[in-house]
Amino acid sequence: MIATETHQAEILDGRLAAAQIKGEVAAEVTALKSKHGVTPRLAAVLVGDDTASAVYVRNKIRACEEVGIASEHLAMPASTTTEELLSVVDALNRNNDVDGILVQLPLPKQIDDSVIIEAIDPAKDVDAFQPTNVGLLAMGRPRFVPCTPAGIIELLDRNQIEITGANACVVGRSQIVGRPVASLLLQRNATVTICHSQTRNLPEVTRQADILIAAIGRPAFIRGDYIRPGATVIDVGVNKVTDVDAARDYFGHEAEKRIEAITKRGYTLVGDVHPAEADRVAGKRTPVPGGVGLLTVAMLMKNTLQAARWRRGL
Ligand code: NDP
Repeated sequence: MIATETHQAEILDGRLAAAQIKGEVAAEVTALKSKHGVTPRLAAVLVGDDTASAVYVRNKIRACEEVGIASEHLAMPASTTTEELLSVVDALNRNNDVDGILVQLPLPKQIDDSVIIEAIDPAKDVDAFQPTNVGLLAMGRPRFVPCTPAGIIELLDRNQIEITGANACVVGRSQIVGRPVASLLLQRNATVTICHSQTRNLPEVTRQADILIAAIGRPAFIRGDYIRPGATVIDVGVNKVTDVDAARDYFGHEAEKRIEAITKRGYTLVGDVHPAEADRVAGKRTPVPGGVGLLTVAMLMKNTLQAARWRRGL
């Protein structure tokens, strides 16, 4: 495939895949209730008053309601200590009615997040950041899989994108996205390259990829010349854009709509991939918003359902 001005990448719709997954989870939750009298329950702990975190937790609670999972939202003040949060986690670990525990990250600076994450019962670790679940995934024996990487694999599968034998390149090596998604792709028999801030000649490396995953945290960082023509590009990044000229550059035919959003509420969102340039080169790409982020919440529902089953040996 040759990049041309008229070529337009196919958009991989996260809304559709997320709705399908939530529909499947809802049906299974109903069956679990009627056959075994079990309603899965998620406890979401929010510490402090970070606006973005509060929105994420609200979306997760709303998704629970949609699929029939019971939920509780524990709000703790920004001044909470590691010990105070540990005692809440401990109580949730011991509460047999709670199937999944989610501690929304990032935590306030005074809290040692590794201590908290390690304290979560691995059987209730629906975010899959606890070292037991991280280790199982690294060994190729995944139990819980972190929600964003699991959502990326679902999106690829549901759009019939072949993973076996593909050259997959992951830019970013975080515990939350980069490393686990690379493990999952390897397990699915892709040939995986992991890139990071010390990678030499990054565009040359990313241009080898049939599947390119960007989890960097830098607005529109992956330009057209980083992308192999026809590749599938998965954009994990979520970055705020407040500058009208940047929006005009990033969004091509969508620019006016995005500039209107900046005028109305002060910002619009862009991923780690330059959307207008990717559109001219990629075969398929995920949008931001409306892509990977929606899958993350859907996979949390799936993990909570799994936790409820596994804890009861079902
Ligand atoms: P981190 O900041 O933890 O990791 C960023 C990674 O990008 C690091 O490995 C870093 O390399 C690498 N990196 C930074 N600069 C460069 C560069 N110039 N060249 C190559 N690599 C670079 O981020 P996360 O993985 O937590 O998140 C990434 C993005 O995804 C963010 O925008 C975040 O908001 C978003 N996100 C979205 C989710 C969703 O549901 N949609 C869920 C989670 C995250 P190094 O290790 O060398 O520093």
